[in-house]
Amino acid sequence: MNERTYQRKCYPDRLPRILEHRSQVDYKTLMNTLQIFSDRYPFVGITYMGTSVLGRGIPMVTMGAARGKCRSVLYVGTHHGMEHITSAVLLRFINDYCEAVDSVGRVYGVSIDNLFRCRTVHVIPQLNVDGADLQINGADGCILRDRLIAMNGGEDFSRWQANARGVDLNHNYDAGFAEYKKLEEELGIDGGCATRFSGEAPESEPETASLAALLRYSDEIRGVLTLHTQGEEIYASSGGEQLRGMGAAARLMSSMTGYRLAEPEGCAAYGGLTDWCIRKLRLPSFTLECGKGENPLPYEQLDDIYSKMRELLFSFPLLV
Ligand SMILES: [Zn+2]
Repeated sequence: MNERTYQRKCYPDRLPRILEHRSQVDYKTLMNTLQIFSDRYPFVGITYMGTSVLGRGIPMVTMGAARGKCRSVLYVGTHHGMEHITSAVLLRFINDYCEAVDSVGRVYGVSIDNLFRCRTVHVIPQLNVDGADLQINGADGCILRDRLIAMNGGEDFSRWQANARGVDLNHNYDAGFAEYKKLEEELGIDGGCATRFSGEAPESEPETASLAALLRYSDEIRGVLTLHTQGEEIYASSGGEQLRGMGAAARLMSSMTGYRLAEPEGCAAYGGLTDWCIRKLRLPSFTLECGKGENPLPYEQLDDIYSKMRELLFSFPLLV
């Protein structure tokens, strides 16, 4: 089957709506889509990596025959409520990968059969399941409704980035946490709110604590990709520090996506997953700022974002 036939085969009518970018990835859509994948592709493993503040299971998809027994990579989407289009990108990748295992020999010169046998790909499509659902559906019916409205300053949650305790998950890792606290003070942030509050302590939140535990105790994970929006940029260092091999990998990633290499600036430079992986775990880790425009990016951008990311998502397991 050639690549063009394959592209068509990836998006038949019976696929979940999310893959045709007609619906946003709230928790219900996420779980329904994963159920379809589970029914359709018996070789996919779906587990719960952890539980959110509101008690929702945070799903993790594992693809690869040896499931965790061989070199593996981890992709993480939606740390921030307004960035759930990254969950759509990862769901599309999971489907694409599974279709390829089912039907196609090679993608971008990579033997899918080989990839499936020699590498494991773990995908957490949506880490901040509560934050994304709040941003899309608001707080009605939520057990923490009144507290959330107080933290948000109103009932319009369209600018909500944090988890359900008002903690910005990508400032809640143990990397530059104390330095960020000083910056937080300058920004006038002193408690839970829609964005940028780093929490009482590193890994104080169930979402970050469970992800940190997974990474801390996994011997097989050799590289991490974290998807955010927006800017079409790749961050491949932390405070100027870069691990061996990361520079070459980042340049390749830049040529695959057309995204430029950049350094995080201001408050984006503290407490993130990429910073923690590089500084504390010595694990090659990269942040991708997908798409361009103002958050939340419209799902009309999904095709464009995915087409730029696709080669990288298929190739990354062999880059690290
Ligand atoms: Zn983000």
